[in-house]
Amino acid sequence: MASLEEAVVKGLAADRGLFMPQEIKPLPLAFFDHIGGMDFPEIAYHVADAFFGEDIPAEMLKQIVYDTLNFDVPLVKVRENIYSLELFHGPTLAFKDVGGRFMARLLSHFIRKEGKRQVNVLVATSGDTGSAVANGFLGVEGIHVYVLYPKGKVSDIQEKQFTTLGQNITALEVDGTFDDCQALVKSAFMDAELNARLELTSANSINVARFLPQAFYYFYAYAQLRSLTGDAGVSPVVCVPSGNFGNITAGLFGKRMGLPVKRFVAANNRNDIFYQYLKTGDYQPRPSVATIANAMDVGDPSNFARVLDLYGGSHAAIAAEVSGATYDDAQIGATIREVWQHDHYLLDPHGACGFRALAESLRPGETGIFLETAHPAKFKDTVEGILGEPVEIPAKLQAFMAGEKKSEPMTKQFSDFKAYLLTAAN
Ligand SMILES: *Cc1c(COP(=O)(O)O)cnc(C)c1O
Repeated sequence: MASLEEAVVKGLAADRGLFMPQEIKPLPLAFFDHIGGMDFPEIAYHVADAFFGEDIPAEMLKQIVYDTLNFDVPLVKVRENIYSLELFHGPTLAFKDVGGRFMARLLSHFIRKEGKRQVNVLVATSGDTGSAVANGFLGVEGIHVYVLYPKGKVSDIQEKQFTTLGQNITALEVDGTFDDCQALVKSAFMDAELNARLELTSANSINVARFLPQAFYYFYAYAQLRSLTGDAGVSPVVCVPSGNFGNITAGLFGKRMGLPVKRFVAANNRNDIFYQYLKTGDYQPRPSVATIANAMDVGDPSNFARVLDLYGGSHAAIAAEVSGATYDDAQIGATIREVWQHDHYLLDPHGACGFRALAESLRPGETGIFLETAHPAKFKDTVEGILGEPVEIPAKLQAFMAGEKKSEPMTKQFSDFKAYLLTAAN
C-alpha cells in the first residue's frame, strides 16, 4: 500500500497502475445537513479532509484548499430544470485550474517536508491541462514543469497560456498528436535510466492530487442547487463532458461519499470510446480524431481504469449509474447556436456536449446540472464561426495573448525526448 506522498510524488504506481484511495469514506449526514450554509472552500475542506486528512496536518490542508480556491464556481440556471456549473472562473478559465492549483500546492508541501531534489513534472496536453498545470505550478520552487503538446492542434489562446510563462515552465511542441504526447510521458515513466537519474512525476489526471480535488465542486454544485430550487431533497442528474474521464471519476467518488446524485451522463464528442463501451461492454481504444471540443479528443481515456475499479469491473454496474452520449462537430455547433438563441447562454464546445447530453437524457420531473468546463472565449474562433458574432475576451485571457510564445520543438520519438530530458532536467 502506498502513502499519499508516494502517490502524489510518483504519479504512477510501481506496476504502472493508477493509484486509488484505499477506502472511500462517506461524509457524515451532518455535513449534508449544513452544506447549504457553507461557502466553497469550507465545503471543499470537508471533502479534502476525507481524502487527505490522515496524511496532512489539518491547518496545512486547510491552507492548501483555501489557496487553491480563490475563485468562484457558480451554478447558473440556463433553462427550466437545467443548470450550468461554471468551472471557468479560475486563472486559465477552465475546470482544470482546481486540480492544477491543488496539486502544485500539495506537491510543494511534500517537497519542502522531504528536502527533495528538483522534481520534474511531465504533462501531456490536448489544450487545457497544460495551461492549468503550468499556471498552477508557475514559480513554485523545486519543481520544473514540461508541457508536451501537439503542434498545430491546440488553439492560439490555449497555446499562449503555457508557452508564454517562462520561469520553471518549459513547453515542448511535439510533431504528433495528443496520444503521441501522452505516449512520450508514459514511456518516460517506464524508462529505468530516466527514473534513476531524475525525479519524475505526472500532472495528468492519473495523479490523484490532480483528479481527486475535482470532487470539491460537485458538492458545492449540490449546495447551490438546494438553495436555488429550495428543495432539500433534490438529487440531480449530473452530466460531464469527458475526455480522459478524470473529471467524471471525481464525481463518481463524490457519489460514493454520499453526495446525492441520481445518475451521471458522460458526454463524448466523436471520440466516443466510452459511449461504445457502454453499448457493447467492450473497451476498444482507438486513435483520437480532431474535433472542435479538442480537450475531449482522447482515444484511450486514462481514467477508464479507475471507473472500472470503482465498480468492481462490472459493466452492468457502470451502465446502471452512468449513461453516455456522443456528438459530432455539426451537432456541437447546432447546440451552441440553439442555446444562444433560445436561452441567451453562451456555451463553449465542451459545455455544448454536456448541455445537449443532459437535455436529451432528462426525464420528466428530473433536475440536471451540466459542467461548463471552459469559458467560450478560449475557443473564440470556433464559437465566432458558429454564431457569426464576436465573442468578448475576458481580461485574464487578453493578458496571456499579449505574451510571447516560447517553445522547444520535439519529435514523437521517445529517444529524442529522453535525450532532451537528460540534458535539460539535470
Ligand atoms: C480536460 C477537459 C475536458 C475533459 O475532462 P476529463 O477529465 O479529461 O474527462 C472537458 N472539457 C474541457 C474544457 C477540458 O479542458
